[in-house]
This record gives sequence, structure tokens and C-alpha cells, in this order.
Amino acid sequence: MTTVLQLPPLDPASLLSGARRERDLAHLAAGGSTDVLVIGGGITGVGVALDAATRGLSVALVEQDDLANGTSRWSSKLVHGGLRYLAKGSPGVAWESAFERAVLAQRVAPHLIHPLAQVVPDFAGNRGTARLALVGQRAGDALRRAAGTPSSLLPHARHVDPDLALRLVPGLRHEGLMGASVGWDCQLVDDARLVVAVARTAAAYGARILTRVQVLEVDPAAGEVQAVDTMTGTTVTLRATTVVNATGVWAHELDESISLHPSLGTHVVMPTALVGAGHGSLTVPVPGTIGRFVLSLPQTGGISYVGLTDNETDTTDFASPQPPAADVDWILEILNTALEIPVTPADALGSFAGVRPLVSTGDHGSASSADISRKHLVQRTDQLITVTGGKLTTYRRMAQDVVDLITDAPCRTKDIGLIGAGPVDERLDVPEVLWRRYGNEAPIVWDLGELRPELREPLAPGSSHFGVEAEFGLAAELALTVGDVVDRRTRIGLVAEARTPAALRVAGLAAGRLTDSPGVDGALVG
Ligand SMILES: Cc1cc2nc3c(=O)[nH]c(=O)nc-3n(C[C@H](O)[C@H](O)[C@H](O)COP(=O)(O)OP(=O)(O)OC[C@H]3O[C@@H](n4cnc5c(N)ncnc54)[C@H](O)[C@@H]3O)c2cc1C
Repeated sequence: MTTVLQLPPLDPASLLSGARRERDLAHLAAGGSTDVLVIGGGITGVGVALDAATRGLSVALVEQDDLANGTSRWSSKLVHGGLRYLAKGSPGVAWESAFERAVLAQRVAPHLIHPLAQVVPDFAGNRGTARLALVGQRAGDALRRAAGTPSSLLPHARHVDPDLALRLVPGLRHEGLMGASVGWDCQLVDDARLVVAVARTAAAYGARILTRVQVLEVDPAAGEVQAVDTMTGTTVTLRATTVVNATGVWAHELDESISLHPSLGTHVVMPTALVGAGHGSLTVPVPGTIGRFVLSLPQTGGISYVGLTDNETDTTDFASPQPPAADVDWILEILNTALEIPVTPADALGSFAGVRPLVSTGDHGSASSADISRKHLVQRTDQLITVTGGKLTTYRRMAQDVVDLITDAPCRTKDIGLIGAGPVDERLDVPEVLWRRYGNEAPIVWDLGELRPELREPLAPGSSHFGVEAEFGLAAELALTVGDVVDRRTRIGLVAEARTPAALRVAGLAAGRLTDSPGVDGALVG
């Protein structure tokens, strides 16, 4: 194995700010051509920007809103080993997932990824389901081993007794509990933070990252893209040898030959104490399906995301679709079958939904969207390459497939750590959650509060997000609005009642350096 290249903490070239955005946009608007222009600042787009930049190509990325504006912030935040795809008869997709999980968790982003026990309860009267889950988890183990992930990171799957099951998931229903099947997968600290880390790493290798630049039209033959700077309303013509359409569920708008089958996935935000989770993820089989589960996913700060649905949708709000109330009911109903004390929608702290950009193969007939392949699509027409579908877990591979079409230079991203990866000195007095979010940049983030102690206070009562995170977002992570801070650099906005106080606090701390402000109802106005 080759060694992983690590960037120094706070590498100056990795710092993204409003001032740098303006300089880079002015350069491109003045006619500066790039080798690769990527459209879309979700995980796929930033992944392509990083891959291309590290192969020596000049790169610009334009995103119509903020980084992680679309689907990439609404996922389950799992870096998964592909077990589900094995159950669906897609061994290729399963293997790709397991391989990419190994690369991300051990080399590229170990600071953002940690193991998670998935606990499938074994109740008397329904023992076949837990046994089947264990068979699946053992098959997942075989994939893990083949992909080179050691059992010291993700332990072997096994059946545990009721005592251990209850220690992992204390809220489990006691009646009829015979134990649990426990398998292991990987969890991201946050999906939007992964996007920002990849974007900053791409910037460190020379990519120009421009948010709030919306592409209106692509003329691949001329190598020209018409776009508008949505902060000023100015239109610009951008030039590139190759244009990459990485706009996820929007892909059809720039490339009409792409046909997608959008599917909506909902999660409910619950207090962890109520949904039974402790160290593990309560994983409840969906009746009448194979390989589908409702999962409670514990997060930092005492909250859990519980999901998820997978339903065809005709929504056109791809950036922040409304989670249907029926989805919330369905999720909690299934969760309740395994809980000692049932929960209701009134216990929820919030909910969120995202649209999967599933590639329409045209042969899925009446199959539900849950059955459609998660395989990604890379399609080249002249100088326009469209990449869509796939998943967060496989973003690196998707990017490799795209850039392989552009250059013969070998892909390097398996051997490049994201910003924040690398050795940390945990003796330093920094809150645990910051190590998990910022890796070896955590002490720098925390130090921002040395002269301004108010930055070391939580952004809202009881929140695990601190003022220093807002400040770091402004200084280094291209946060330009209050919404960027509360909804993407931090995820405080996912807890409905924390969002308004946090937005007011962020606007106060930023003292006019952000372009919007919260109104009395908490809505953000630019
Ligand atoms: C509910 C749910 C749960 C999921 N859970 C997981 C999981 O646990 N693990 C996993 O691996 N995967 C998961 N996925 C899949 C994963 O989230 C997606 O595959 C991935 O985020 C798609 O990223 P993307 O960059 O292709 O699209 P997006 O994140 O949507 O990015 C596209 C970007 O393009 C921008 N854009 C669009 N049009 C323009 C334009 N004209 N000009 C400029 N910019 C434009 C948008 O603003 C957007 O930011 C989940 C998906 C969903 C919906």
C-alpha cells in the first residue's frame, strides 16, 4: 500500500472565502479557460473537481446555491458496505460500495467516518427475520474482508444475548426479546461536511470553487457555458475544454438525454433517548421486504435520525423537499414494533427529505423505486460528460470514471487524505465533537474562541454546535449566508426549534459579514 498524502492543517490554498470566490469568478469571466468545468457542488461534483485537480488539470466548479445544496445533505450519512445491493442481486454495486468504504474509512477520510453497530432485534415469534438478517450480515462480513477492511475497525457479525442487545439499544421492547443480530457498518459525522472537506481539498490542489453561480445553458461544441452570478445578477460566459454535468437530480435540465426516476427519502429527527439507541443503530426489518430496514441513526448532541422511505415522487423542489406526514407516520410505526415505549410524531424534533437521482433504465416496470439499481451513470456526448445516480459512498469511484474519460494521467484520489485527515494530538483540550467534525483542524477551530469566549458557547441552548464553527465557516469554508452556516456547515437547522435562535446568534456573531439575516419568524432574507 502506498502512503496517504496528507495536507497540513489549514493549508492556505484550501481556504475558501467570499473574497477568493470573487477573484476566481473575475478570472473566469475575463475569458480564462479551464480544462474541466464541473457544474454542481454536491458530493459528485466536488469529487470530480478533486480527482481532476489532482491529475494536474485546471478545474473550476460552479454551484447554483451553496455547497451541498441538494441531495448530498439529505442522506442517511452512512458509508455503507453494500449489503443491501447483495440482497437485491447486484454484486457489482455491492463490491464497489465495500471497496469504497474501505478506501474512505481507512485512507481518505478516517476523521469523518466511524463504525456503527447495526442491531436487528430477535423477538420470539419472528425469529426467522433476525436469522435471515444475520445471514446477510455475515455475507456483508465476507465483502468487508475481501475489500480489506480489518475486523479491528468493523467487527464480525454475530448473534448477541438479550443483555448485550439491551446495552447496545436500551430502548428495545423487553417482551419476547431473544437477543439480536449485530453487524457493523460505517457512519459519516455528516454528509454536508464531507462535501465541504472534498471541496476544500480540491481547492488545495488548485480547483476554483464558485458557489452561487447558476448555469443557464451549455454549448458543449463551443466549450461554452452561460451562467449567472446569483449574488449580483451578472451573466458570464465560462470556457472549458470539457464540461461535467454533476447536477444530480437536476441532470436532465442540462442534458435532455438523461432520464431519471426520482425517489423521495424521508428521515425523522428524534431525541436519541426516546428511540432506544445507545451505542448502536436500532435496525428494524420492514415487513414484507428483504433487505429493507427502518434505522435509528444516533448522531452527536443526543439526536438520532430515523429513516427511511423510498417512494416515487413528482416533487420539483429538489433542494429541500417537504417530508410527507405519511412518511413520518410509516417510519415511526415500524420503529415502534421494536420499542418498549412507543414514540409519536409529536416527539419529533424535526424531519427532512431528499430526492435520489436514480438512473432510469426503462426496464423497471412496476418495481418500486427501492428496487431500482443504485449504479451510477457516466455518459459522454461531445465535450459534455454527465455523471449521476450512484451514492455518497461511491463518489470517489464515480469521479475516477469521469476523469478517466478526460485524461490518461492515473487517478490519485485513493492516496490523498481530505483536509483534516492526518494525525491529531488528542491531549489538546478540544470538545470531542470538534475532533469528529474537523479532524486535525479542530484545535484551530476551537482557538477562534480564545479571544472571543462567546464563540465557545453553543449556537442554541443544548446544541452541540459552537459559535467557533460559524466563524470557521466564514473564514475557511465559503459560508456566505446565515443559511449556509445553520443548514450546511453545521446541521443545527435540522432541529426545528433550535434553528431560529441559532440563525439570530449566527447573524449577531457575523456582524454584517453574511449576506442575509433572520426575520422575526426566523425566515432568512437576503
Ligand atoms: C434519503 C436519502 C438517503 C441516502 N442515504 C445515503 C447513504 O446513507 N449513503 C450513501 O452512500 N448514499 C445515500 N444516498 C444517496 C446520495 O445522497 C446521493 O447519491 C448523492 O448525494 C447525490 O449527490 P450529487 O452530487 O450527485 O447530487 P446533489 O447533491 O443533488 O448535487 C447536485 C448539485 O447541482 C446543483 N445544480 C443543479 N443545477 C445547477 C445549475 N444549473 N447550475 C449550477 N449548479 C446546479 C444543485 O444545487 C446541487 O447542489 C441517499 C439519498 C437519499 C435521497
